[in-house]
Amino acid sequence: MPSPQSPDWVSRSRHSVWHPCTQMQHHETIPLIPVSHGRGPWLIDMDGKRYLDGISSWWVNLFGHANPRINDAIKAQLDQLEHAMLAGFTHEPVISLSEKLAALTGQQLGHCFYASDGASAVEIALKMSFHAWQNLGHPDKREFVCLQGSYHGETIGALAVTDVPLFRTAYGPMLQAVHVVPSPDARRAEPGQSAADVAALAAAALERLFAERSQHIAAFIVEPLVQCATGMAMYDPSYLATVRALCDRYQVHLIADEIAVGCGRTGTFFACEQAGVWPDFLCLSKGISGGYLPLSLVMSRPAIFDAFYHSDTARGFLHSHSYTGNPLACRAALATLAIFEEDDVLQSNQRWAARLSAALAPLSDHPHASHLRQRGMIWAFDAITTEAPGAFSRRFFSAALEQELLLRPIGHTVYLMPPYILNDDEIDLLAARTLAVFEQVIA
Ligand SMILES: *Cc1c(COP(=O)(O)O)cnc(C)c1O
Repeated sequence: MPSPQSPDWVSRSRHSVWHPCTQMQHHETIPLIPVSHGRGPWLIDMDGKRYLDGISSWWVNLFGHANPRINDAIKAQLDQLEHAMLAGFTHEPVISLSEKLAALTGQQLGHCFYASDGASAVEIALKMSFHAWQNLGHPDKREFVCLQGSYHGETIGALAVTDVPLFRTAYGPMLQAVHVVPSPDARRAEPGQSAADVAALAAAALERLFAERSQHIAAFIVEPLVQCATGMAMYDPSYLATVRALCDRYQVHLIADEIAVGCGRTGTFFACEQAGVWPDFLCLSKGISGGYLPLSLVMSRPAIFDAFYHSDTARGFLHSHSYTGNPLACRAALATLAIFEEDDVLQSNQRWAARLSAALAPLSDHPHASHLRQRGMIWAFDAITTEAPGAFSRRFFSAALEQELLLRPIGHTVYLMPPYILNDDEIDLLAARTLAVFEQVIA
């Protein structure tokens, strides 16, 4: 917590800066943490107090703060080219990054289209799907389908396919109507049901919608394996395999939003790999730049690109953002991908994830915790309490700060999404203090 010695600019922040995803009045009682610098998994405030970044600064930071390899790559790029427009021009970082990403999909997806934030990537995928159907002579295919509890960002198009009332309700009248289908969330299992059973039932509901309406449906958007922002709802990979088959059968595009679950977060580089499927569109952002610079992109199947390739300008995808393909961000992403390769990150993550899982195991039969779950580098459990979700989450956040942890539960769901670089001491500290904070807050 900032002490009275904190510089006076901290108290000014509340008046000059409108903070994201925040009821600003809460800052009358919850102080803002003035960050001075970051080192590895630690953020250090102006008083020298440190916080272990247990949620990778909103899921973006993969290899720690001030990572020397990413720093060096950006510094070198800075002296070469900071930015140039990507219409009519190109540059080596954006080409190399696009080629490397296509190779990671075994050339199933390519033609990377760039933007700066995740929500814009979702907008791009929605617009591309809609427009591709028009270009292919199916102008009636203009509706979208999303999952219950889905989160795909907060711009108007992305919010339309977001099913989180807290973010959506106030803007409902501004948003286009979409179809919302049951989530395969494994927590819905009735006694005797497996996660695969829940997935099969959810897929059956999607099929009923497709059977009735597919000639009007452009795309189904889904977050593969884990619906993160709704509270780390994890589900069986068989759902994605079934969905892929249904989308093929009913001629509906499949959009995989891997903005949170991509870049190794679920154990494979792309979450889709665990279901053995590729979507028609894949959105990436968050971790792709290592948590350094705003960068997002949409990869698509060759057939999508071909649908726009024509002598008629208006049949092209005339979408752009000023900073599309920014070379500094692309260079940070290339450095991030190089770390994956050079350090065999997916393998070493498996090793240390087992240590963190073992340390969190006491939660599996805790009387006030339910659904302890893990997928790759995401751990979560739900607090059993009558306290309102927001109040619980804020108390947990404050108590965690006292224990040198940055954790920010989603309602009653406490989760860990650490950067991929914790050493054994840091793993043990993260687990032990998460348990201690939970005991304190639930008491
Ligand atoms: C964070 C997130 C987005 C939106 O990304 P922004 O960069 O915040 O706009 C979209 N989809 C998912 C799954 C996300 O987690």
